[in-house]
Amino acid sequence: MSAIADNLQAVRNRIAQAARAAGRPTDSISLLAVSKTKPLADVLAAAAAGQTDFGENYVQEGVDKLLASAAGNSLTWHFIGPLQSNKTRLVAEHFDWVHSVDRLKIAERLSAQRPLTLPPLNVCVQVNVSGEASKSGCAPAEAAALCQAVARLPGLRLRGLMAIPEPTDDIAAQRLPFRQLRGIFEQLQRTGLALDTLSMGMSHDLEAAIAEGATLVRIGTAIFGERNYA
Ligand SMILES: *Cc1c(COP(=O)(O)O)cnc(C)c1O
Repeated sequence: MSAIADNLQAVRNRIAQAARAAGRPTDSISLLAVSKTKPLADVLAAAAAGQTDFGENYVQEGVDKLLASAAGNSLTWHFIGPLQSNKTRLVAEHFDWVHSVDRLKIAERLSAQRPLTLPPLNVCVQVNVSGEASKSGCAPAEAAALCQAVARLPGLRLRGLMAIPEPTDDIAAQRLPFRQLRGIFEQLQRTGLALDTLSMGMSHDLEAAIAEGATLVRIGTAIFGERNYA
């Protein structure tokens, strides 16, 4: 087995154990393998080990990889990075999901640019929950209005919410922002939005995210190793 196959199995075991601890079925949590900065060969190794969903943060890198991997594979590609208006077309034309919609202008462009030959683009609205240093994500108080507007766009299918809390090693502190996101998610469900995806949890905090109801965890380092940005 390759190191990546071993790592994938270890991550699947962590997910299963966290699900058990939370009294949830393991299959209520899906695994997104975050392959940003990693070569195509790593994607193919993970795909050979049964991984179907991949996440990328940089538009051109992601498009290059998804086109190159397409031969012989039917993989699902998620765009999870910050998205500028001038890059929406490539994303709308090539990806299956976007997790990082944080303003209406971006959503409107993705909807208008989604080819009619493809199913609607699955999207999550990114929320800047408490304690985030990043400037990405809408304010929690703006999430409901943004979600209602996104849900009306014909080229998109609103699936849920995403957040990237500030890293911390303290499990109790990790859980707080995830709990906040889940609260917003359940509030939106009560208003009638059919949401099924709570995209939260990364290599260092997937257990806390699953304890708070994550339905999709986005894992890079624990599968592919440390990233080298040099
Ligand atoms: C890089 C990245 C991840 C994966 O992070 P790891 O700590 O390597 O698991 C998940 N989500 C987003 C949005 C990312 O940018």
